[in-house]
Amino acid sequence: MYDTFEIQQRREKMEDCLFCKIAAGEIPSNKLYEDETLLAFYDIDPQAPVHFLVIPKQHISSAAALTEENAALLGHIYAVIAEQCRKLGVDEKGYRVITNVGEDGGQSVKHLHFHVLAGRSLAWPPG
Ligand code: IMP
Repeated sequence: MYDTFEIQQRREKMEDCLFCKIAAGEIPSNKLYEDETLLAFYDIDPQAPVHFLVIPKQHISSAAALTEENAALLGHIYAVIAEQCRKLGVDEKGYRVITNVGEDGGQSVKHLHFHVLAGRSLAWPPG
């Protein structure tokens, strides 16, 4: 059976995707936490004393592609972020969770990811 054009394009995007490769273990990462659905790993270019990323293993291009079907996944992502921040001891002073969307949002990797920044006082609004 032949793939539709849409499925073929999606497959090509995933084969090309840095975070799909990290999720699959094809590219190494400094992991904090992993389970069947998601991976948390330290950002290669940290912008705060604590800076890690949480990604779904499933390829979702950005928060703009989320639907109601992803509600459980998102709840799980935020629960894992809270747990990891407790373990890292940054929960009491606080932290920031950000997902950049698209060009103006500053998204450079086209696979949904949540930045978690902590360990310093973070300015608002961001640049
Ligand atoms: P964005 O700019 O919001 O898309 O965030 C992408 C993030 O991925 C940036 O903070 C990068 O530093 C980070 N990053 C890019 N490549 C790697 C890698 O191989 N390992 C860990 N983090 C990465």
